[in-house]
Amino acid sequence: MQDYELTIQHALWRIQRLFARKEVVTKQESGVHRTTYGEMVPRINRLAGALKRLGVKDGDRVATICWNNYRHLELYYAIPCMGAVLHTLNLRLFPKDLEFVVNDAADKVVFVDQTLIPILNQLVGKMPSVKQIVNISNGQPLPEHQLGELLDYETLLAAESEQFEWPRLKENQAAAMCYTSGTTGNPKGTVYSHRSQFLHTMGVLQVDNLALSEKDTVFPIVPMFHANSWGLPYACGFAGCKIIFPDRWMGDAASVVELAESESATIVGGVPTIWTNVAGYLEETGKRLPKVHTVICGGSAIPRALMERMDKLGLRMLHAWGMTETSPLGSTATVRSWIPPDQALEARLHQGLVVPAVEIRIADPATNEELPWDGVAFGEIQVRGPWIAKGYYNNADPEKLTKDGWFRTGDVAKIDPDGYIQIVDRTKDVIKSGGEWISSVDLENAIMGHPKVLEAAVIGLAHPRWDERPVAFVVERPEFKGKLTAEEIREFLTDKVAKWWLPDEIRFIDEVPKTSVGKFDKKVLRNGAKPFSEAATAAAQR
Ligand code: AMP
Repeated sequence: MQDYELTIQHALWRIQRLFARKEVVTKQESGVHRTTYGEMVPRINRLAGALKRLGVKDGDRVATICWNNYRHLELYYAIPCMGAVLHTLNLRLFPKDLEFVVNDAADKVVFVDQTLIPILNQLVGKMPSVKQIVNISNGQPLPEHQLGELLDYETLLAAESEQFEWPRLKENQAAAMCYTSGTTGNPKGTVYSHRSQFLHTMGVLQVDNLALSEKDTVFPIVPMFHANSWGLPYACGFAGCKIIFPDRWMGDAASVVELAESESATIVGGVPTIWTNVAGYLEETGKRLPKVHTVICGGSAIPRALMERMDKLGLRMLHAWGMTETSPLGSTATVRSWIPPDQALEARLHQGLVVPAVEIRIADPATNEELPWDGVAFGEIQVRGPWIAKGYYNNADPEKLTKDGWFRTGDVAKIDPDGYIQIVDRTKDVIKSGGEWISSVDLENAIMGHPKVLEAAVIGLAHPRWDERPVAFVVERPEFKGKLTAEEIREFLTDKVAKWWLPDEIRFIDEVPKTSVGKFDKKVLRNGAKPFSEAATAAAQR
C-alpha cells in the first residue's frame, strides 16, 4: 500500500474539488453571512500566503481568539495546512490563565475577532512571544485598546495571491493544540497531530458515531475553541456538509432556534446547558425543529429529565463522551441492535460504547487493577488509541499515563457486560461517606428529574463523622421560584437513591456557577460553600 501521509490538507482538497457548492453560513448582527466552500478556498490560500509573509514557519503556533464563524473556519484550514499549529484560545478563561496559555504555547501571531479585543487587551505587555495581532472585523469602529498596531484580516488577504503552494507535510507533525479548562493548577496543553486529527475525523463520521453525511446541515454550537468543536469542522469538510455557525450568539436559545430553522439544520451539537435553554424556549413558544434528526450532546452527562423533555419535543439526543485529551470523541451512545425498545432510553442515557480505534478499560485508581465490566464495579476510565494524548505540552505529567501506556482520564465509570459506559463521577468529585462512594452525578441527575428543578449540583463537604457528606445546590425553574422546599426534594429522592445518599443539606441558589465551557464549576461551589452548620455537625457526633 502507498505510504500516504494522513493530513488535514485532505479536507482542504475535498472542499475544493468535491463540495465547492456547499454553503457555510454565519449569523451576524443583522441577518447572516453566506458563502460556499468554493468561495472560501481562494481566501484560505490568501490567508496561508499572509501567514507566510508574516514569517510564520513550520511548527509555529498561531492562536485564534474567535467565535464560531466562517473566518475561524478559514483559519482552521490555512494554519495547519501551511505547516503551522492552530492554537484555539478559550475566550472564557480568566486573564491569568489566558496569559499562561499564550506564553506556554509561545504563540507567534494571534487572530482576534474584533468583539473580543477587550479580552486580549487584558494581556497587554504580557505576551512577549506574540509578534503580530490580526484583527478580524466587519468594519465596525475599533474598541479602545493598548495592544499597539493591529493588522487587519481582510487587508492581509486582499494583498495575497489566490494561489498557494501548499507544502508537503508529515502526518506526525503538530496540526493544532488546545488547553484544558484546568480545574486545578495551570491549564494543560494537548497537541494534536495531522494524523490524529485525520483519524479522529474518520471516527466522527462513522454511522455508529456522529454519522455526518453530505446531506446533513451541521450546526456546531459547541465552541471552536473547545476541543475542536468536537471535530465537527473537519468532519463537515470530509463529508461535504453544509455548516452553520452561531458566531457569538451561542447561549441565546431564540437565535439558536431561529438559525436552525431558517437554515434547515439536521444535526446540532452542544453541551446540556444549551439544550436546557432551547427546550425551555421551545416549550414556551410552541416552536419545533422537525428537520433536526440528531442533537449531539456531551461535555457533561445528559440528565434523564432533559432527554425526556427533548424526546417530547421531537429532538433526539445522541449522548457522546470525550475530553480535550481524547480529541475529543471517546464514546457514543447509539442504541445497538440487541437493546430491547423499552431499554433504549436507558442505553441512550449512558455515555455509550467506545468508538472504533480507541480501547477502554476501568481500573481501581489506587492499585490500577483492572475492574470487570459487570455494570457494578466502578473505577477510573483509561484509554489508548491513535487520537488519545500521551502527555501534555511542556508538561510531562508522568502520572497521566499508566506504566503500560494507558491515558488516565480522571473520569470514574462502570461498564456493563455489553460495553455501555456509565460515568459515575470525576475522581475528584466522588463523595466518600463513611468509606463508601456516593456518585455526585447520579444524585444531581435524580434531583434534576424533579419537575420544579432547573439545575442541581452536588458536592461533598467535610463532615466530622462520615468524612464527607453530600450537599445539593439547587436552582428552581423560574415559575417555581421560592415554591420548592428541601423536604419536597428529599421526598422525591426516596425511591430513586439509597437512603444514605440523601443530601444532608439542600441549598437553593440562583444559578450554578459554570466553567469556561459551560459545565458546572464545582470548584467554585466548593470554595464558596459554607461548612455544615454546628447544629448539624453536633447531631452527627451523637
Ligand atoms: P473537556 O476536556 O473540557 O472537554 O472536559 C472533559 C470532561 O468532561 C471529561 O473528562 C468528563 O469529565 C466530562 N464529560 C464529557 N462528556 C461527558 C459526558 N457525556 N458525560 C459525563 N461527563 C462528560
